[in-house]
Amino acid sequence: MAEGALREMGFSDRILSPSSAEFAPASLRANAAAECKAALIAFPASTEAVSLAIRFAARSKLEIAVKCGGHHYSSASSIENGLVIDMGALKSVSIDKAAMKVTIGGGCLWGDVYTALRDKRLVCVGGGVHVVGVGGHITGGGYGPLSFKYGMACDNVIEATVVVADGRILRASEIENSDLFFAIRGGSSSFGVVTEFVLKIYPDQGPYFFKSVGFTADARVKVFSELRSFLARIPVERQILVFLNFVRGPPPHSEALIILNFFGLGAVEDFEDVFEPFLKAGTQFLNHTTHCPSLVEFSHVIDDLLLQGAPRKANGGAPITSLWPGMAEEVWDRWMSYTDANPDARQTKVFLEFHNSKRQRPETTCIPVDVPRHGMCVSSEEHHDPAGDQRAEQWTHEMNNAVRSYEKRYGARDLGVNGNASMLIEKSEDVWGQHYFRLRRIKAKYDPTYVFKRYFPIVLDLDGASASL
Ligand SMILES: Cc1cc2nc3c(=O)[nH]c(=O)nc-3n(C[C@H](O)[C@H](O)[C@H](O)COP(=O)(O)OP(=O)(O)OC[C@H]3O[C@@H](n4cnc5c(N)ncnc54)[C@H](O)[C@@H]3O)c2cc1C
Repeated sequence: MAEGALREMGFSDRILSPSSAEFAPASLRANAAAECKAALIAFPASTEAVSLAIRFAARSKLEIAVKCGGHHYSSASSIENGLVIDMGALKSVSIDKAAMKVTIGGGCLWGDVYTALRDKRLVCVGGGVHVVGVGGHITGGGYGPLSFKYGMACDNVIEATVVVADGRILRASEIENSDLFFAIRGGSSSFGVVTEFVLKIYPDQGPYFFKSVGFTADARVKVFSELRSFLARIPVERQILVFLNFVRGPPPHSEALIILNFFGLGAVEDFEDVFEPFLKAGTQFLNHTTHCPSLVEFSHVIDDLLLQGAPRKANGGAPITSLWPGMAEEVWDRWMSYTDANPDARQTKVFLEFHNSKRQRPETTCIPVDVPRHGMCVSSEEHHDPAGDQRAEQWTHEMNNAVRSYEKRYGARDLGVNGNASMLIEKSEDVWGQHYFRLRRIKAKYDPTYVFKRYFPIVLDLDGASASL
């Protein structure tokens, strides 16, 4: 019935209803705990069709969820008995090499974009893994392998096309609807559906390498200490990033392990002096390098890992500016006790990512992190039993708080949480910091009837909507 009503409004693109065979696969998300059964899934193939779908939902009193790659671990892109606007048919990539910009459909995955750019020896700032959606990643404040050179993904958006709550199609840039432009770069789907992003592009920086070095737990004191000294001494010109990961080996022993991942630009041989002190920290059970001619190959490096792991997940992500004394040790202890106490969650991992993201004109986006460079502590809970869903979310929240306490303890500013990498139990004020109040006014202007409500809540400031935005 609902499908017929959408057709009557002139929507001619693909629609799935619960009776169709493709409905169940189209409802899957990266986290099984985030999946819902929608009333309808529509796949608009144009900006005008997105507008039709939004107006149809209002007329039919259906709640909307917008889905791109489906990789947010919350149910932000799913909706029970509502309308899912699946952006999967909006996947064009058009490169303007003379102007050094690329126009990307709001349903692309990063793999689509990197592949199109590779053929012209170009790159842009995107996520580290090919399956992640451009739509969620950019609008949620994503970072990636080249963020240490060129800033976060949202810093690289030149303009965008946005369909807002009443179905209007608006251009957003620093000179056109600049308040909306501020809000969609960090506000996720709270302000409208982005059908097109125009991004800066750069000459390809490749080749790249990805080197993994694995140690058993007894090496951790030396590894943490070496990492602190590496972070203190390595100049940014060396173009090498490091990630400290805590993972467990296969059952039945599920041994606690430390893996250091290095991502670098250039030839791995040029970085032997960087690896040498780490290699002395203990015996390695893993020392493997993947050579990546372009970001396409790099974005596939963890493909095997993506196929493993438990189906139900929760994530916490807290920005960090340093590996403060005691921080790695506390994160390790918390991770060990949690995974010991919860055998169903043994596949839980923690990633301390020193990706060294820069910001470019942070005041023009609603991502509040405005320090010159930052990394992230990502706590990635994985379990099987639905009874563990709440516990998992709570643990990621506690991990975020634990990490944030170090920033405060050492006199740095609390940077809140990363919305893209956190569950919806975090406070909106912690996602958007000082910008939350401005977002409340912008929300009242562009979405006064609260159509978009799947991401972190933004309380409307109707009195302030006419004030300066
Ligand atoms: C394996 C993996 C690797 C990751 N790697 C990175 C990384 O390297 N860097 C990083 O920063 N993050 C990374 N993330 C986190 C990722 O950026 C977020 O989960 C992001 O929200 C995923 O976007 P999506 O489009 O795939 O998700 P979805 O679940 O489809 O969408 C997430 C949110 O974005 C909204 N949205 C999606 N498309 C649009 C659109 N076109 N217009 C408006 N709103 C939209 C949705 O409504 C929802 O609120 C990773 C996550 C995973 C699971």
